[in-house]
Amino acid sequence: MSTATPQKFEFQAEIKQLLDIVIHSLYTEKEIFVRELVSNASDALEKLRHTQITEKDVFDDKAELEITLTTDDKAKTLTIQDFGLGMTKAELIENLGTIAHSGSKQFLKALGEGAQKNASLIGQFGVGFYSAFMVAKSVKVYSHSWRAAEPGHVWTSDGSGSYEIEEASDLRRGTKIVIELKDDCGDYAEDWKIKEILERYSAFVSFPITLNGKRINTVQALWLRSKNEIKDEEYTEFYKFQSHAHDEPRLRLHFSADAPLAINALLFVPQNNTEKFGMARSEPAVSLYCRKVLIDAKPKDILPEWLRFMKGVIDSEDLPLNISRETMQDRSLIEKLNKVVTKRFLKFLADESAARPEAYNEFYAEFGVFLKEGAALDYTHKEQLTKLLRFESSLTEKGKTTALADYVTRMGADQKEIYYLIGPSRAAIESGPYLEGFKARNLEVLFCYEPVDEYVMNNVREFETKKLTAADHADVKLADLPKPEGALSEDDTKQLTTWLKETLGTRVEEVKASDRLVDSPALAINSDKFMSPQMRRMMKAMKKDGADEPVKVNLEINPRSAVMKRLFETHVSAPEKAKLVAEQILDNALISAGLLDDATPMVARLYKLLESV
Ligand code: ADP
Ligand code: MG
Repeated sequence: MSTATPQKFEFQAEIKQLLDIVIHSLYTEKEIFVRELVSNASDALEKLRHTQITEKDVFDDKAELEITLTTDDKAKTLTIQDFGLGMTKAELIENLGTIAHSGSKQFLKALGEGAQKNASLIGQFGVGFYSAFMVAKSVKVYSHSWRAAEPGHVWTSDGSGSYEIEEASDLRRGTKIVIELKDDCGDYAEDWKIKEILERYSAFVSFPITLNGKRINTVQALWLRSKNEIKDEEYTEFYKFQSHAHDEPRLRLHFSADAPLAINALLFVPQNNTEKFGMARSEPAVSLYCRKVLIDAKPKDILPEWLRFMKGVIDSEDLPLNISRETMQDRSLIEKLNKVVTKRFLKFLADESAARPEAYNEFYAEFGVFLKEGAALDYTHKEQLTKLLRFESSLTEKGKTTALADYVTRMGADQKEIYYLIGPSRAAIESGPYLEGFKARNLEVLFCYEPVDEYVMNNVREFETKKLTAADHADVKLADLPKPEGALSEDDTKQLTTWLKETLGTRVEEVKASDRLVDSPALAINSDKFMSPQMRRMMKAMKKDGADEPVKVNLEINPRSAVMKRLFETHVSAPEKAKLVAEQILDNALISAGLLDDATPMVARLYKLLESV
């Protein structure tokens, strides 16, 4: 028997509460109702597909498994139709009138737990079907179950506390939802508006979606397909589409995991580091999906800061379920995702560096600065990141790099520390006086060319229990070398260093014979514990206080050098001239150390010296 007149039902108390919040919410992203209704349609189609496998007798069996949306900007309506499994009358009452289902229930639970920002919670959970009432004056749900014997019905409500159900004839299988929009929500009856929303949130839904007859979703959710079926071109096309990019991805990682979370991820490293040329800091761009439906396009904590150059997609089925078991303050699910994906990506980079070192080095040249940032700041991943760092060194050719692990294998039995030097270029470091003592003792020195390197080395501190030590640091002690013939004697050296200290006065803290010098006559060692030459330069550039304080240096001299031997003679025979030479030697050493602030006095002095030639 058919029910000729509409039958009226009260919503369950919790639903009334929910509707009240949804309707009166000032939530600005009302558009998520489209995402929710399309997801429901997609779920219904998915369920039908399973039903078709087991059941022979499915109503309207030829109906396409697709979702169609139509807008009517005159009538101010939006219609969403699917040919999914539909609902019987009992199911309409059960599903749309009570609160047995996941999303909305959780929403209420979170509210109960004292979450205050109701509005933003709507976006987080999506309140499912009921989100339609954010924009609707009234909602009509026409539905015909896949069960041929059941009649079709229309469910109607204005969201104010009750709904009606009436039998309806001539329905196709599935569900058609007609939304009559509120006066201030007329936009959602515009084709362009719905198109934009569908493209944002529902681009990867697996069933065809058409809007006013035009197909919307043409790109597949590639991340859910099996790797070995996907061609490179498909990956590239996907990358360009998903990341709004124009380049070819440099690296990609496609993986899935089951434990501790079900994750499907497809991550890309772009060609270029856009921060490199002083461009703005990159925004997180790896999007978070739950079963092909966008949850958040730019989630903040899904990856560590230093991975902000990455693009792509992380999809986790566990997301809504898990979120629903936890309060909003509890970040543990996101943290877990972060941990799994980051670990996986680091392992991927380690594998890449071994399997394709050339490509890895090119990647490193572009993005290494992010790995350094991570090594310096992210304690959790420091160890793995430090292994990924690369440097040129005194033993590599120009342009070739070495890993710290390889450096360590080359260390002699007596070498306890890993040495590095910071300078603007290879040429600058090699022509400076600091390297020669290490070279003479067969000690490898890493070369660091970037301003951040000092900070990174100081923070990383050690690798495999070996301390990272600046080769120009005042504390570095080197083993004795055999004394070559013709060096100044110890007494003479002592006399010379004492004279130099007297002559140079406050310009130097200390003068002593060096164990680091082989060819150069002298070098300056920064003896300021609180400010390295690099820091000093940076502060000067930024015009910070303290940068103009006189430098504190130790002068180390080379008793084997011809210049020192000559100076030893002249400091007795021609003390005036010797004084000029001493000053000049100090200035030369300061230039090499990057510590000479003002070269003007030097020019005058050089002319004086030239006069006496
Ligand atoms: P959820 O999708 O989280 O279960 P919703 O509020 O979005 O919560 O939907 C409630 C229920 O209504 C769904 O679980 C489903 O059983 C039913 N439903 C909603 N939309 C459709 C549809 N288009 N076709 C069939 N059933 C639907
Ligand atoms: Mg839903």
